[in-house]
Amino acid sequence: MSDESSEPDTKEIEDDEWHLYANAGYGVVESPEAEPTEEEYEAPEEEWFDGDDFYNQGASIDWDSPPCPAPLGIAHVIKIGVCDYCLHRISGRRTQSRGFEGGAELRNEAHARDSELSKSEISEICPLCENLFDDVGNIAERITESLDGIEFKTMQLGIHLPKDLLQSEDAIRTKHGSQGSRPLKSSFAMAIQNEMLLNSPAISFVKDYPDIMVTVDTLTLRVDTDVRPVFIYGRYEKLVRGIPQTRWPCRSCRGRGDGCESCEGTGLQYSESVQDIIGDPVKQILGASDTSFHGMGREDIDVRCLGSGRPFVLEIKNPRLREFELSKIEKEINSNEPEKVRVNSLKWCTKKDVSRVKETRSEKSYTIRFKVDNPISEQEAVKSIAALSGITLEQETPKRVSHRRAAKTRKRRVTAISNILVEDDEIQFSLRCEAGTYVKELVHSDEGRTSPSVSSVIERECVVLWLDVDEIHAD
Ligand SMILES: [Zn+2]
Ligand SMILES: [Zn+2]
Repeated sequence: MSDESSEPDTKEIEDDEWHLYANAGYGVVESPEAEPTEEEYEAPEEEWFDGDDFYNQGASIDWDSPPCPAPLGIAHVIKIGVCDYCLHRISGRRTQSRGFEGGAELRNEAHARDSELSKSEISEICPLCENLFDDVGNIAERITESLDGIEFKTMQLGIHLPKDLLQSEDAIRTKHGSQGSRPLKSSFAMAIQNEMLLNSPAISFVKDYPDIMVTVDTLTLRVDTDVRPVFIYGRYEKLVRGIPQTRWPCRSCRGRGDGCESCEGTGLQYSESVQDIIGDPVKQILGASDTSFHGMGREDIDVRCLGSGRPFVLEIKNPRLREFELSKIEKEINSNEPEKVRVNSLKWCTKKDVSRVKETRSEKSYTIRFKVDNPISEQEAVKSIAALSGITLEQETPKRVSHRRAAKTRKRRVTAISNILVEDDEIQFSLRCEAGTYVKELVHSDEGRTSPSVSSVIERECVVLWLDVDEIHAD
């Protein structure tokens, strides 16, 4: 989740606020001119609340009664028909029991003080909660069922309540409830938490970064449980050419349906990827549904990545297990395709590391080999190529990537050039350069788009044979 889906609570609060403003007449503020004047601001005071909104069995209601915990306040909320749960939570009174039982205690006390009160029955629909608290057990049970077999420690609850209910509850509670009594939404969340803890006392409820995100829609009583991903940081070596870093959908069928002829039903353009060679064993071990792969940059399909490897974060989605010995995971990955991809330095990390790894720009070392159209003396080649060490290249966006990158000119520094080898019409050398240098273009010049280039300094056409990343100087 970018943090896409992890904060339904925050979003909901914003929505609620928006709604309040909209109802109060603030919602139309689009330009400074449209802003209401001082006087216009006074109008909205609880205008949407009207005392006849709820059922009160015809009892005459004293709108001026003092708030709870005053006995008259408690008598008043009993008269308007609140349920025992709400009676308890807005009463401001300590009782032996809590919840429904605590409310029943208070009701009995009130009846003893004033026998007239026993004529006020509990409404069929509680004006404060619309009988939500009756569903707590059922909701807790469904959360537990949907998480059967899933390992987790922390949980966050997101409760969606109808705005009109939140508003009318807030109005009644603010006027008649005890000062500081808990609003409906957090009371309801707390009730579900307490119910869950009866059966699973080890769960810890958190405000962010939960293992499990639960959302409850009180209108439909729909319960959604979202198992948040886990993340593993590591470095990978790609020992062969021809493997893309991430899964590529087939160009013909775009990976839809059951694939097509050209991808032999796999839906993939390349049957293997670094992502799946690493991710498949992890998926298996943790019982996950899928992975996402986040590399610190990527090499081309035909480029190897050697040395200590390229940093990456593997995001593991919907894992049934969240903890596992990393040395065992590493061993499993490294025995999957040991001739092709290997990993090292695995550690558990968090979502924050995804952006850190993706945004890190570090120098890299490469070795490149190419062919020239016209042989050159070793001495001349070494002298010309070595002279590129320390220079700053100007690189226009290469033709091969121009379909997905905006055209612009980059300046990139070549830090060092070494190990220049000349063998007939083939030349090879190693270099270290700034992040984002187009290395193949540094050699063949991309029809002059990169300047200077090896091709321009040796005055020959160059065709790149292969390229290896020798080291990524990061982390
Ligand atoms: Zn209630
Ligand atoms: Zn296909």
